[in-house]
Amino acid sequence: NKAIAVMTSGGDAQGMNSNVRAIVRTALFKGCKAFVVMEGYEGLVRGGPEYIKEFSWEDVRGWNAEGGTNIGTARCLEFRQREGRLLGALHLIEAGVDALIVCGGDGSLTGADLFRSEWPSLIQELQETGKITQEQHTRYKHLNICGTVGSIDNDMSTTDATIGAYSALDRICQAIDYVEATANSHSRAFVVEVMGRNCGWLALLAGIATSADYIFIPEKPASDGDWQKQMCDIVAKHRARGKRTTIVIVAEGAISADLTPISPSDVHKVLVDKLGLDTRITTLGHVQRGGTAVAYDRILATLQGVEAVNAVLESDADTPSPLIAVNENKITRKPLVESVRLTKSVADAIKAKDFKKAMALRDTEFIE
Ligand code: ATP
Repeated sequence: NKAIAVMTSGGDAQGMNSNVRAIVRTALFKGCKAFVVMEGYEGLVRGGPEYIKEFSWEDVRGWNAEGGTNIGTARCLEFRQREGRLLGALHLIEAGVDALIVCGGDGSLTGADLFRSEWPSLIQELQETGKITQEQHTRYKHLNICGTVGSIDNDMSTTDATIGAYSALDRICQAIDYVEATANSHSRAFVVEVMGRNCGWLALLAGIATSADYIFIPEKPASDGDWQKQMCDIVAKHRARGKRTTIVIVAEGAISADLTPISPSDVHKVLVDKLGLDTRITTLGHVQRGGTAVAYDRILATLQGVEAVNAVLESDADTPSPLIAVNENKITRKPLVESVRLTKSVADAIKAKDFKKAMALRDTEFIE
């Protein structure tokens, strides 16, 4: 019987607990042992029963309704070095783990695939240095890896939704609704900054859902030239029609047509100086990743958790590591390496201000 371990890594996202719950319970249901690795890769590097814990059915009871990740997440510098991964391999073998499912962003999944590709040389070294026996070397000669994508940004290529994105979007919409009430009372403008790094998905969809007056996203530089004028014309038109509130959403990474960053204070200044609006800035910050997951994320994380266990049980040494995705409402498997590569090239194109390329890559449907 196999032993399957799950960890959460990188930034936390609502729904990670549902993913862990589904993986633990599916593993047990299929007659496997279930383990959790605490604190992301930090737990692998540290090892021992405090960090690599065997879990029972009851250990994840109620986790669907809990936000964050109960098994912890961390950024771990040591795992970026071979020495750290060598310790990780030793600790997994000591715990008797055959397969590892990582729920995280593209960085975490890159680390996972690197770990898998290095595995033969890691266990070779462990055997040569007497840390593991010949029997252990034979028994654990291959490590099955599978990725599920936990990220509020919805920035992973090849999947329509990442675990946490719809919860963060919902949180943003609630917060903007709250702000709208006070904006209406005082006839104020609010500039709301939202997360998303290189991806404007949260800002764009929140803009639609809250009928914001104007949005700034990284993928589309604001206006062909004069965003100040375009924004002010739109806001002034809405005000002239009797609207007492103004909401402008600024994504992290928003830029202008001359490719300089646009900050909430830049927007604030324009609304005050050009339109004379009483304007406030609201930075939503970690509220966006807080609270419990919306039903969609719980369901997505659960279905993907079941599929992740199926995938590791069906994989062998020749199967490329799968990433569990969702495409057109169906849970799918994609090659993890290709998904991460494509995600990185979108981010690189945006950083290089090559928006045409970024948009083309985002639209690519390259894997069947
Ligand atoms: P988020 O999208 O929320 O930032 P992420 O998974 O991209 O999540 P990272 O900080 O990039 O977050 O990665 C999390 C951890 O994964 C790192 O701290 C490190 O331990 C491991 N990791 C990331 N990239 C690599 C890599 N290239 N090689 C080995 N380990 C890596």
